[in-house]
Amino acid sequence: MTPPFDLIELSKWAGQRFDLVQAGGGNSSYKTEDGQMLIKASGISLSEVGAAQGFVSIDLAPLRKGLTKLHKQQESLEKGDLEKAAEELLMKVKDKNASARPSIETFLHAYLDTYTLHTHGIVVNTLACRKNWRELFTELYPESLCVAYKTVGIELALELEPQVTSYIKAHGKKPSIIFLQNHGLIVSAATAQEVKFLTEEVTIKIEQFLKITNNTYRLTSVISESVNAVFGLNKVSYLSCDAGLKELITNAKPLFLQKPFFPDTLVYCGSRLLILSDFNDTDTMNKFKENFGDYPRVIICNDLIFFVADSVRKAREIEEVLKFHLSVLVVNVTQNIAPQDLQFLEDEELKYLAAMESEKYRQAV
Ligand SMILES: [Zn+2]
Repeated sequence: MTPPFDLIELSKWAGQRFDLVQAGGGNSSYKTEDGQMLIKASGISLSEVGAAQGFVSIDLAPLRKGLTKLHKQQESLEKGDLEKAAEELLMKVKDKNASARPSIETFLHAYLDTYTLHTHGIVVNTLACRKNWRELFTELYPESLCVAYKTVGIELALELEPQVTSYIKAHGKKPSIIFLQNHGLIVSAATAQEVKFLTEEVTIKIEQFLKITNNTYRLTSVISESVNAVFGLNKVSYLSCDAGLKELITNAKPLFLQKPFFPDTLVYCGSRLLILSDFNDTDTMNKFKENFGDYPRVIICNDLIFFVADSVRKAREIEEVLKFHLSVLVVNVTQNIAPQDLQFLEDEELKYLAAMESEKYRQAV
């Protein structure tokens, strides 16, 4: 089953946000009307998902049935045996043609609404690891569900399930905001848009409660939304936290404007980076499109450096290559070799390499 576009978009939106998920953490799911659930595969990060990769289809009815059975057996089973039985259940209900494993947190999603996003946010965990976590979350979100710490996987799901059932009885609807002690947040709703809105709302409300702001991480969403709108793409962006690059952008900005001197810089970073005057500067973005016909891989705005790619992993590769490119220039400059004394690649060669790259890309898709 092909994942709906809004599931991919929701996953990539959260996946690019370091303040919401890190590495392969977090997951997302979507339930169809005919009883299937698409859940993020294990071992892939949220920003890496796409139409052809990253989700596994699950048969919901046997999964729920199996969970009820495991619940009854829970008391008599050792922790290890319970996990083994859960793993067997997962393998039984997943799409037999899929080689990927469903996320270990699949069970958590089974009883929730159509779209579900689970994140490991900085500010949510700031409160989730406090001893009075339940009080704090209940005060901020009286209608939320607060679930005590259990080992991730089947134990956590079995802790959650009866609480969801009582919540439905008490409120007449499924919970949309669930806080997990020492772990994170689950948001579930009828649409992907609502899930995104609520995840952001919870994050901002807790930031205000803590009197802090993680706005710079939120800017990655602004950058990728702008690139995607102008170029008709579905890219993510990654905000560089590299101390060396930060220092260079403050003290040696002209070095960023030099052309590539070797092929990898062109392949990873593009022929030019894009400097925006502010985060609404779509005019400059449109001009870049007119001039180069392709999207920018590196964007600088207010001295913040963003890398644009298909996933956070790919964006970090661009960061590494840019850092290498600048290191070579810096060593030369410190040896009193100015950029005008260096041989950069000719425009003709840059065009040739760019065309070669886009041909490789076409062949890959
Ligand atoms: Zn988790």
